[in-house]
Amino acid sequence: MKVLGLEATAHTFSIGIFDGKYVLANEKDTFTTKEGGMIPNEVAKHHVKVSEDILFRALKKANLSIEDIDLIAYSEGPGLAPCLKVGKDFAVGLSKKYKKKLLGVNHIVAHLEIGLFCTRAKDPVFLFCSGANTQVIMHEDKYRIFGESLSIAIGNAFDKFAREIGLGFPGGPKIEELAKKGKYVELPYCVKGMDVDFSGIVTRAVQLYKKGYSKEDLCFSLQETCFAMLIEVAERALAHCEKKEVLLIGGVAANRRFSVMLDSMCKSRGVKAYTVPMEYAGDQGAMIAYQGWLERERVQKKFDFNPKWRIDDIKTFWK
Ligand code: AMP
Ligand code: MG
Repeated sequence: MKVLGLEATAHTFSIGIFDGKYVLANEKDTFTTKEGGMIPNEVAKHHVKVSEDILFRALKKANLSIEDIDLIAYSEGPGLAPCLKVGKDFAVGLSKKYKKKLLGVNHIVAHLEIGLFCTRAKDPVFLFCSGANTQVIMHEDKYRIFGESLSIAIGNAFDKFAREIGLGFPGGPKIEELAKKGKYVELPYCVKGMDVDFSGIVTRAVQLYKKGYSKEDLCFSLQETCFAMLIEVAERALAHCEKKEVLLIGGVAANRRFSVMLDSMCKSRGVKAYTVPMEYAGDQGAMIAYQGWLERERVQKKFDFNPKWRIDDIKTFWK
């Protein structure tokens, strides 16, 4: 069975194809800026512009025609409404035109499941760190959120700081580069029980930048502080729930320093640390195709999008 997965929840328009065993294609185009952040309506326009080309590229890469596809899956939410609508409309259009079964899937569940698919993790504490979400998740009958950011997500915090210091979008990779040459400056460390809060850290880092602190030192310190906070809550989750694995997923999982810090904590506790491969860290269509494949038996009649869909509302019948 060949599943085409369509991702358009935020900055990236992507189409992946999964055949039940392998990812055959994972083509994407991400909205970027040299300066400034992402404006949802502009991103939606970007998605409309690249959609046909991405479809063409994905089918070519997989050496398939659209007729060979058995099921289409799209990211139904959560995400930015204008972007979600582009993805939903494109998927509905394809499904009607080529008479293909269609499923809307949850974008966050897809991040978690592709992480399991790509690693040997079986029942981990998920540390989900993306542009719009930061959550500590475990599967206990369903996916449950044990801790999260009380304000902005870690990726968003990085993007916001990057925007303030003129680095453009997405900020995370640029911060990672600059951080390699930085040294530590104290920033607020904000953990409340199992929750974290990044907004005050960004405010303080911007204040220090305006006082003349270097971009390198602030990028390094922002990373060290935010990652240490998340690793602290992941460690607490491990201890409370007696899990033996942590799986780092989402766009920020592409950060090498984060992975190294997580490895070090896990080593000292005698548990396993896994990080999703970089190709599957940020938003992409392959994870949506894979999730569609997991849910292939489900029947769906109404197709919409849901910007605020939480994973604890989902029955994980495929597990
Ligand atoms: P996602 O929403 O899962 O696609 O993740 C996108 C987020 O990941 C954006 O906020 C990026 O700035 C962030 N990101 C991407 N690569 C890196 C990196 N190497 N280090 C830190 N953050 C990153
Ligand atoms: Mg995402």
